[in-house]
Amino acid sequence: MILILAPDTDKDSTEYRQLLEFLSNLENIQHRVHDEKGTQQLLTEIYLVGDTAVLQTDEMVSLPCVERVVRVSEEYRVLGRHHDDQRPTYFDYHGVRFGQDNLNIFAGLCAVDIPEHVEIMVRALAEHGQVCTRMGAYKPRTNPYSFQGHGKACLPWVFELAGKHGIKVIAMEITHDAHIREIQQALEDAGNPTGVMLQVGTRNTQNFELLKAIGREADFPVLLKRGFGITLEESLNAAEYLASEGNRRVVFGLRGMKTNMGDPHRNFIDFAHVPVIHRLTRMPVCIDPSHSVGSRDATHDGIMDIFHVTAQGVIAGANMVLVDFHPYPGKALVDGPQALHMDELGYFLEDIGIARKAYESRLKLARKAHATAGAD
Ligand code: PEP
Ligand code: MN
Repeated sequence: MILILAPDTDKDSTEYRQLLEFLSNLENIQHRVHDEKGTQQLLTEIYLVGDTAVLQTDEMVSLPCVERVVRVSEEYRVLGRHHDDQRPTYFDYHGVRFGQDNLNIFAGLCAVDIPEHVEIMVRALAEHGQVCTRMGAYKPRTNPYSFQGHGKACLPWVFELAGKHGIKVIAMEITHDAHIREIQQALEDAGNPTGVMLQVGTRNTQNFELLKAIGREADFPVLLKRGFGITLEESLNAAEYLASEGNRRVVFGLRGMKTNMGDPHRNFIDFAHVPVIHRLTRMPVCIDPSHSVGSRDATHDGIMDIFHVTAQGVIAGANMVLVDFHPYPGKALVDGPQALHMDELGYFLEDIGIARKAYESRLKLARKAHATAGAD
């Protein structure tokens, strides 16, 4: 059960103390307080776990400071969508809204290499009105002798260049909790010119200690990639690890599954799960066409598979697209063969625009169809 308190509830008030005292005296029920600091107000929620079936909803809603009560019937207590659940399906970070109802594009370098390439990328994004990018500094590689990323050494100039070109959010994978401090420090030293969305890669989806450490971190939102060899339910539980520790600003990323059933794509595309995640949880959904497809192959219609699968995800309501670009893919240190080229950025964004408009038209049509059905 979740108790949603009145906005800006004062923790020093007598009412709040009475509420906590009441909750502490409930037998076999533990409670956990979660604060969400928005730009306008502080929202406090209290999660009750244990024998909550005995609690009466109308009794709980009449407790001091309590505004609403949500009975948690399904899994994913914090991130899930529950019956009568009106909690928000979006969050704001660094002036950018991430929600189940909008779309942000994160085009960028799979791996940061040299300042010149980073600048070409972020300048092009700015020219196309984009405020988000992806930049890999810590790269988890299959082969221990492959380039592992520049790590913290590149952070100062990556952040500076991003800020210089108006980039507000960079998706950046981390593979160890020590990287959180390195990013925090580098951002602070640079005067916070940009923001970072921490990315948990598919190889770390079930690295529970890493998830707990990131979950305790209130500063950054998180992009959690689905594990490439586990069920959707297992990956959603991994997302819940972040939220259960306090960080609920989570975007769920689809990036394909590891099975030869997807050949010749690098992974089996799983973008049909976009609406499923929207239904089960309140998380915005990201799709990663680059790591799903893994090549620049195109068919006779002249359209690359990367474009086709992006359109499939967007037309189903995806909220974020993470995609690899590189100004000189032949020189890219990681994943060059799947990178889109700089002169394809405008084309890619326009193609996404078509798919998004189609999704919006489908939404309108669905509303009309439901209204007609309801009138019968
Ligand atoms: C990446 O986005 O660079 C990446 C390594 O993705 P994944 O974890 O999905 O393989
Ligand atoms: Mn990659």
